[in-house]
Amino acid sequence: MNFERSIEQNNFISKVDESCRKIRDTEEQAYLEEKLNDKLIPEFNKIGMLGCPISTRYGGLGYDILTYIMALERIGEEGSSIRTFFSAHTSIGQMVLQSWANEEQKEKFLPKTTTGKSIMGFALTEPDAGSDPSSMTSYYEDEGDHYVLSGKKHWIGNGTIADTMTTYARDKVTGKISAFIVDMKSPGIDTSEMKNKIGLLTVKNAEIYFHKCTIPKENILSLPGQGLNIAYSALIDGRISVAAGSIGVMVDCLTESTNHSKTRKQHGSVLGRKQLIQDHIAKIAIAIESSKWLTYRAAHSRQKLHDYVETTKIENSDWQSKLNRTNTDYSTLRAQADRLAAIAKFHASNAAFNTANRSIQIFGSYGYQKNSRVARHFLDSRATTIYEGANEVLKLKIAADILGRDFKSY
Ligand SMILES: Cc1cc2nc3c(=O)[nH]c(=O)nc-3n(C[C@H](O)[C@H](O)[C@H](O)COP(=O)(O)OP(=O)(O)OC[C@H]3O[C@@H](n4cnc5c(N)ncnc54)[C@H](O)[C@@H]3O)c2cc1C
Repeated sequence: MNFERSIEQNNFISKVDESCRKIRDTEEQAYLEEKLNDKLIPEFNKIGMLGCPISTRYGGLGYDILTYIMALERIGEEGSSIRTFFSAHTSIGQMVLQSWANEEQKEKFLPKTTTGKSIMGFALTEPDAGSDPSSMTSYYEDEGDHYVLSGKKHWIGNGTIADTMTTYARDKVTGKISAFIVDMKSPGIDTSEMKNKIGLLTVKNAEIYFHKCTIPKENILSLPGQGLNIAYSALIDGRISVAAGSIGVMVDCLTESTNHSKTRKQHGSVLGRKQLIQDHIAKIAIAIESSKWLTYRAAHSRQKLHDYVETTKIENSDWQSKLNRTNTDYSTLRAQADRLAAIAKFHASNAAFNTANRSIQIFGSYGYQKNSRVARHFLDSRATTIYEGANEVLKLKIAADILGRDFKSY
């Protein structure tokens, strides 16, 4: 594993950096006004970021997962709101289609998403089904030539702006959960923006109501009954994206805290000369490095899974070999990526929240203001220990993976 940036990666991250700088002022303003930054999509679309890890066959840049993760890391410096937009659009949106859609579905849906004409999201969670999506009550009925979907989802990222949503529901007759590609302009869908959030104020989270919404038969992903399998595989990408964004949060906190410590004087010298402040600075640096390597390693492992699927073509030609776990290579690679993603997300999200807390302490009262960057990181990163798998559940998952299936306690 070599995580030194290549020239190509450096060039792309420079473009991401430039776009981040261009939207910084508008993002800060949008945050105060609690609205979507309307410069976000057009600016990042210019550099292809809306299809960064998606194959060039569908209009994406075709970058590997590590390059995408490095881009999210830089974007995370601008705030977890912007990074969350990309997690929803790409990591648990487009990448679900890239991994699970058949060729016709990919050709129909992906090209619009890589150019920003269609924004994506992932609708799994329900009011009574959060950490345990297997208890979902949204259901679908097979009406012969189409499905009809009913139920309610909540907290869905990009929910009010998404054009295409992967959505999960159970068969009303068999109870099995399936995944669907849903055109959000279909009749029978209502969305309502979720207000009153304490952070992530430029992300559009929504409640989504499906009232007997018609879904074309060809919009089912993979096979009926594979919904949770697909959702859990999507969460591998979601978790790695949260870990990457968390690194960015910590990098920005370190930059802000370092600058402040070098200029703010108390008791006759700058704060940076005080050993207790140096303790905070050193611990932030340690948190960044440890999170970075866990996240890059998880991305590397996820790339191996992707490469295996691409080279063996098991996805499109032989669903069974992938789905019934008789394909041991696939299962081993997926289990490893799953575990490493959970570890990276757990570690980096906790580290980012603690880091933002430290940074506010370094800033004192100057950090305790809505327009301070470190305060925004503090409020935003609080969500990162909850979504894409709450951290308690991730710990149980990691332990069960080590102890064996019989020890699964959730
Ligand atoms: C900002 C934000 C954005 C989100 N975006 C999306 C999205 O785009 N799409 C989507 O589908 N969902 C999204 N979610 C939902 C998110 O995935 C859920 O909030 C998360 O899975 C936790 O579910 P819950 O909130 O219902 O909490 P609960 O499941 O009720 O959990 C509450 C607490 O109990 C703990 N807990 C649960 N089970 C156990 C157990 N067995 N043992 C020990 N502790 C346990 C949890 O760790 C947590 O601390 C988002 C949520 C937030 C806050």
